[in-house]
Amino acid sequence: MLEVRDLSVSYGKHRALDGASLKTGRGEIVVILGANGAGKTTLLKAMCGICEGRVGGSVQMGGEELLGLAPDRIVETGIALVPEGRGVFGDLTVEENLTLGAYAKRARDEEAGNLERVLTLFPKLGERRRQTVRTMSGGEQQMVAIGRAMMSNPQVLALDEPSLGLSPLLCKELFQSLAAVRKAGLGILLVEQNAKQSLAIADRGYLLENGEIVHEDSAEKLASDPAVQKAYLGAA
Ligand code: ATP
Repeated sequence: MLEVRDLSVSYGKHRALDGASLKTGRGEIVVILGANGAGKTTLLKAMCGICEGRVGGSVQMGGEELLGLAPDRIVETGIALVPEGRGVFGDLTVEENLTLGAYAKRARDEEAGNLERVLTLFPKLGERRRQTVRTMSGGEQQMVAIGRAMMSNPQVLALDEPSLGLSPLLCKELFQSLAAVRKAGLGILLVEQNAKQSLAIADRGYLLENGEIVHEDSAEKLASDPAVQKAYLGAA
């Protein structure tokens, strides 16, 4: 469904991403593990048409080339980004935040149906639809951000470090809700430093080091790989 081929990004002379290739299919959770500065955010931004650097290579959704398209046009092809730091509007209610996510043409006619779907997937948001987002916990705000991205009726949801700053309990809840999103048939591309919990729900994973994909395997194999354990799972 989503296919990235040989994607490179340079900021001036600095090559932040160097020939990265990856795929995400329907109903699949794919995790990209990488340390700080590995190029994870750059990869997601380049895919979504919002990267400040020089971008080369190819990003396709269902065979359509995305590189060179405007960001709003990219949303129309069925990819939605949940940026790092969430970007929710604290002074607005849950429902107002969700409704703001329905601006894409592909979603406008089905706003009511999509809202129902999001509130079914995240019952907590349904209970709190009139609550001001600023007053919610970090994990709940992250769910608002994911719900808002889902209001564009995407086929692929791309998330930039959604577990950042969450307590272990909230992390667990978050990853459980991503598993529910996958069940709804979406593909999920998850950029994370939290290797343990993300590999536990993922199907496949890629390791990104200094802008290059250095390894690809099933999530199960990655979780038991000694090199991965040492670099990302805090093993000695
Ligand atoms: P983190 O986990 O710390 O967010 P990351 O893996 O998401 O890291 P990126 O934010 O993609 O990494 O950054 C990759 C490299 O590109 C870094 O060296 C960073 O300094 C550089 N970089 C990112 N954005 C820009 C920019 N707009 N201008 C110049 N350099 C940038």
